[in-house]
Amino acid sequence: MKFTYLGTSSVEGFPAVFCNCKNCAAARRLGGVNVRTRTQALVNEDLLIDLPADTLHHFLQFGVEAHKIKYLFVTHSHKDHCYPQELGCHRHPCAKEMEQPVLRVFGSHGAYGLMAPFASDNVVVSELKPFDVVELAEYRVTALPARHMEKDGALIYLIDDGEKNVLYAHDTGYFLDEVFDYLRDNGIVLDMVSYDCAYGDKFVADTGGHMGIENIVRVRARLLELGVVNEETIHVLNHFSHGINPLQSRLEKLVRGQGFCVAYDGRVMEI
Ligand SMILES: [Zn+2]
Ligand SMILES: [Zn+2]
Ligand SMILES: [Zn+2]
Repeated sequence: MKFTYLGTSSVEGFPAVFCNCKNCAAARRLGGVNVRTRTQALVNEDLLIDLPADTLHHFLQFGVEAHKIKYLFVTHSHKDHCYPQELGCHRHPCAKEMEQPVLRVFGSHGAYGLMAPFASDNVVVSELKPFDVVELAEYRVTALPARHMEKDGALIYLIDDGEKNVLYAHDTGYFLDEVFDYLRDNGIVLDMVSYDCAYGDKFVADTGGHMGIENIVRVRARLLELGVVNEETIHVLNHFSHGINPLQSRLEKLVRGQGFCVAYDGRVMEI
């Protein structure tokens, strides 16, 4: 599986749209991997996760041939993950001669509510509830409940392409017990986990809607205890907030020797 991080910031971007804090000023000055845009990822060439307003920028910057994308899974309706108006561009006359003229879109209850008005013959939108399983020709995708935006029915996704599997856990606080139970009871062994790291090295209670490194270390330990991850599993930190997280090199230093990769826009994980 080829897994590409297209956007790795939280809602406001990093540097944030209007911010002049020292983290944002440094990110603007240094550029490169320090510049993060809103959350999005691509699995292989045809399964997209989330649809932020930065989508076009991602496709241009990283050479994504978006007309080949068959599936879109949206985690929840926060605007760094769901800018539904973009779906209106997936049909004539905005889009022509697409290799995949039909895009199948799946989302949480809240995301479905925002995206459904943009459904058309070319955009088929379905709502997912926690523990729903979507069987596609190339993938098996399981929706699991996130600890985030409860009214939305926010989801994290377990994505299996028949060879490898990834748990994409954005946005969520410390995993819910039902998530640990589901993974254990179904004998899932993960090849990669992408953890929500909005809080970096700052404390956040397990009841919060995001995680920091300390929470992530404990999630990983519990997954290990349950046999859901092993020594081969890749662990990635992602979804960073400018107000808390430092620049890429400092983040990498913070977790050096702890077995974590730090995502950046454009980072490709060959799993
Ligand atoms: Zn987010
Ligand atoms: Zn800032
Ligand atoms: Zn969110």
